[in-house]
Amino acid sequence: DPERMEKIVSLCKRRGFIFQSAEIYGGLNGCWDYGPLGAELKKNLKDYWWRRTVRERDDIEGLDGSILTHREVLTASGHVGGFSDPMCDDLLTKERLRADQIEPQTGVAYHYTGASYPDTDWSVERPYSVLIYPDQNQDENKARKIAKQYYSQFLKDQQLSPKKIQLAGETSEPVENTTRYNPATGSLVTEPREFNLMFKTQMGASSSEDDPNAVAYLRPETAQTIFVNFKNVLETTRQKLPFGIAQIGKAFRNEINPRNFTFRSREFEQMEIEFFCHPDDGLRLTDEWLEERIKFYGEIGIPREKLHILDVPDGERAHYSKKTYDIEYEFPFGIQELEGVAYRTDYDLGKHQDHAGKTMEYFDEQTKEKFIPHVVEPSAGCDRTVLAMICEAYDEETLTNEKGKEEKRTVMHFEPRIAPIKAAIFPLLKKSEEQVRIAREIEATLSPLMNVFYDESGAVGRRYRRQDEVGTPFCITVDFETLGDEGEELKDTVTIRHRDSMEQERVAISELPVWLIKRTR
Ligand code: ATP
Repeated sequence: DPERMEKIVSLCKRRGFIFQSAEIYGGLNGCWDYGPLGAELKKNLKDYWWRRTVRERDDIEGLDGSILTHREVLTASGHVGGFSDPMCDDLLTKERLRADQIEPQTGVAYHYTGASYPDTDWSVERPYSVLIYPDQNQDENKARKIAKQYYSQFLKDQQLSPKKIQLAGETSEPVENTTRYNPATGSLVTEPREFNLMFKTQMGASSSEDDPNAVAYLRPETAQTIFVNFKNVLETTRQKLPFGIAQIGKAFRNEINPRNFTFRSREFEQMEIEFFCHPDDGLRLTDEWLEERIKFYGEIGIPREKLHILDVPDGERAHYSKKTYDIEYEFPFGIQELEGVAYRTDYDLGKHQDHAGKTMEYFDEQTKEKFIPHVVEPSAGCDRTVLAMICEAYDEETLTNEKGKEEKRTVMHFEPRIAPIKAAIFPLLKKSEEQVRIAREIEATLSPLMNVFYDESGAVGRRYRRQDEVGTPFCITVDFETLGDEGEELKDTVTIRHRDSMEQERVAISELPVWLIKRTR
């Protein structure tokens, strides 16, 4: 639903959730800045993940590793050699595409040949084909024309200039030098080639560009910092298997084609757990972690029925993984991965043991067994989860007002624990000094405990709407009753209006902190 997505992107910008990075300079592709409300939302997600993962569990420890990464770490892990995506060039738009963004289809290849001299035979200069999708019956002439056009371009690129060009044949078999044209997307793409996704940099003042010792990388995942610190954490915490190490932090991938808002960016944040265990427990723990993670998504407002669990089949998993589940979410632009739960065996620790020449073994005091631990990795994307929470929360409701007229309400149904603003505080009348004073006092009491927002401008209905649009679960209004104008019983109480039901209730000012904490933690 592209229209829904457009509305969400526009709200994110208008209300200060997410901005394009360096927008005044035309934007930095694949990078995003979180505005005031987005920063709160993202922080709430990370804090909640950390609380559930690290603080509330005895068997997981936290880590915060460096982003700049030693080249040997990523050589051992296989990233230097093989962290790449197959990339194609679209000859028409000059865009670069990931090969998996191109629909696999069958088609017809048109071979063209060129002759150097008009009166010679059609001795082939260079065979070249353009594979046209789908069936040539759809628009044969156009397909041939495009094929011919790109054959000419190809010859030009090769610095050949034949006098004649002619269609030499047609085939539906894949052929060499084939370019794929897809009329549905209008793309004409080259054969895929591997493109390494890592950001490389130079370290040290005296380093020359080609000094291999000066090469460092921005980490492409947080996981490797955990593996190389396995022994440090084990020794300093005296944990016993099974136990985990968790980390939240930035990762960088030079994605070929960043797209779908923040979904695929070049700079993003991950929330990763490496859960180390005995080899016998790996498969069972993978299933248990899948359930645990699904539960977590429910707790931040992403319901089970919007999640799809993909049990990644043999041949599609990373070669070292014995089991992988992708947790996917129904985004408006399609069902896409939020998190991977992968059983990575002893691959990573084993590689570092070999490459660094340092033991990564664990000694079990009870069984006297010595082995390299296996690991189960629930690896979630922070930005993707924020995007999923935003997409899930966005709603347009049609309401009937007091005058019987229909009106639209845009509301973000954020789970209160992740909502950027927990409560908005209003004096009913800005002119009432007493109401303003009390409202400001409530703000001062609550602001050390949670993010609250004071607003006195405009009609109270307008103020409610503004808060609905950013997903504030509770609006607190200081009114005449608060001042005791309507009798002693309601004195020192406020109106609390609920975002989703729009119902109101009265709560004593003294009870506000506990009342709110209970409902937003
Ligand atoms: P994809 O197939 O979508 O590129 P991946 O399988 O390569 O993802 P992993 O390497 O398993 O992703 O990374 C774990 C998580 O990190 C992903 O599930 C995702 O939430 C997040 N992530 C990975 N790449 C990006 C990106 N470019 N932008 C935002 N989040 C990302």
